[in-house]
Amino acid sequence: MQNDPSNSRISIPEPLDRKIRAIPPRTGVYLMKDAGGSIIYVGKAKNLRSRIRNYFQGADTRAMVPFLVSRVRDLDFVVTNTEKEAFLLENTLIKEHRPRYNVIFRDDKTYFSLRLDTRQDFPAFRLVRKIRKDGARYFGPYPSGLAARETLKYLHRLFPLRTCKDREFATRRRPCIEYGIHNCVGPCVGLVGREEYRKYIDAAVLFLEGRGAKLLDLLKKRMAEAAENLEFEEAARLRDRIAAVETTVEKQRMVSADFKDQDVFGLHREDGQVQVCILCIREGKTLGTKKFPPVRTAAADAEVLSSLLRQYYDGEPFIPAEVVIPEAVEDGDVLAEWLSEKRGKRVDLVVPHRGPRRDLVGIARQNAEGLFRAERAARMDEEAAMALLRDKLHLHRLPRRVECVDISNIGGEMPVGSLVTFSDGKPDKSGYRLFHVRGVEGPDDYAGMHEVLRRRFDGRENLPDLLMVDGGRGQVSMAVRTLRELGIGDLDVIGLAKGSAPAGSSDGARRRPSMKEQDHVYLAGRKDPVYIAKYPAALLFLQRIRDEAHRFAVTHHRRRMEKRDVHSVLDDVPGVGTAKKKALLRRFGDIDTLRRAGREDLEAVPGITPRLAEEILRFLNPAEPS
Ligand code: SF4
Repeated sequence: MQNDPSNSRISIPEPLDRKIRAIPPRTGVYLMKDAGGSIIYVGKAKNLRSRIRNYFQGADTRAMVPFLVSRVRDLDFVVTNTEKEAFLLENTLIKEHRPRYNVIFRDDKTYFSLRLDTRQDFPAFRLVRKIRKDGARYFGPYPSGLAARETLKYLHRLFPLRTCKDREFATRRRPCIEYGIHNCVGPCVGLVGREEYRKYIDAAVLFLEGRGAKLLDLLKKRMAEAAENLEFEEAARLRDRIAAVETTVEKQRMVSADFKDQDVFGLHREDGQVQVCILCIREGKTLGTKKFPPVRTAAADAEVLSSLLRQYYDGEPFIPAEVVIPEAVEDGDVLAEWLSEKRGKRVDLVVPHRGPRRDLVGIARQNAEGLFRAERAARMDEEAAMALLRDKLHLHRLPRRVECVDISNIGGEMPVGSLVTFSDGKPDKSGYRLFHVRGVEGPDDYAGMHEVLRRRFDGRENLPDLLMVDGGRGQVSMAVRTLRELGIGDLDVIGLAKGSAPAGSSDGARRRPSMKEQDHVYLAGRKDPVYIAKYPAALLFLQRIRDEAHRFAVTHHRRRMEKRDVHSVLDDVPGVGTAKKKALLRRFGDIDTLRRAGREDLEAVPGITPRLAEEILRFLNPAEPS
């Protein structure tokens, strides 16, 4: 058998040809493999034999087929009893193998979600980056950390839910200030029962789901109950909450007159990539949009949509009554059945050709286009900043991968070198490292820099395009000297530090008093710094990297100080040795939480006897009887 992908017939290797001939005309899943044995495509078919033959006889006209077929050297298949079984198996295999020619949407890691662990008696909302299949409920994702934080802040203003960490919640003996200002009903010390607290949680969930009408009904009912029971303070608080919810609901735009819950999918294609946008409509109002990073694919829209629907709803706890898509997908019936099963109620998969639903698809598509263009513009800004830096600083390479080192200490003690890595202007956390400076006495930044760079570059592994140090001429000279010691002479090194560029510096900057406050770039072997503020995009690019190195170091120092506090305070308690100090630190985290803990909480820590618990509390709270 032969195929004809691009008018040149490729002969099929004999063993593969034999396998293709042996495929039964049954429903099932097929796995295509390349010469190395890697699975490069997983698909399902009602009739495996005719589907596979279509690939190799040129009858399948999808754009990606010629590329795929030219790489296939082997294939396996699994026969199933029903199309649905094939659908589920295909899903599992795609998730497991992530084959190159299937359309796979990556999670957008820049998004934040709110997590609520409803299995707890008194759960709290938490801001998280990753949605896990851990039994908790997730809301969002939100387009930015700021949007998610604002939502959380607003949620806490509306509903008196706890904000404290689980550890603190478990060890409190008195409610915190949040209770005093009516922002929390004080479940930590039993001031509210589980049922009552659950009502607030339910209301908050309705709010996050965009069910304004239902939430308002519920709040109004509770206000009437409170008034009837002569709880006037509570009734007044509920009245304020109702007014706040009404204002929010008014701001949400009504886009659908039938008050349905819908997800509307829009696709935009450009430069060989597909950008997706999902418009979430709850009770007829737009709750927000969701997106995935663009994927590069030659697959047709129908195939992209089919993959997208499966991947999206596989991890999405909420499934609306109606899913609106721009065009029909091959496995639409099975998909609708699968969605209905997941939802526990009927789900309609709708392909509108005219009318309001078609308009919504248009809005989703426009949003997808807007997202794609905005991301591309941001990418181009980064590219432009990198090109500017290369030209103005005469770098050997485009600074795609930049590493930045910052040496810091606390009052001359505990020196550390923080190293952060940015790829194409974005932080790359896999390249973050912390070095505890060991061989240096006292506050000596140069010696610290020498040690850290020796440890990082010894072995010359994975060199960046540019090394940046936080500092001026001295730090740059030290960095260059260290690299030379290690035989690295071809790596560009710059320093970023505040200071004024003298008149007549070769970049033409004139001396101005205010320039003292500005960052300049110091280059190896050059006396005067470069007045980079003339190029704001380039300056911003470098400042973001330098500030991240600072932040990384400061976070580390703060954590270390907290631990040291606990250690140093507990040093004076008789009977508390290193092991017990560590156990207490693990359990309570910081000295404040430990101070507020109850005797029983301390006794729960291995090695802490009732007497020692009493001793520790007396020591930490001298004014209070323990
Ligand atoms: S009052 Fe209690 S439950 Fe509420 S936030 Fe404060 S510590 Fe947490």
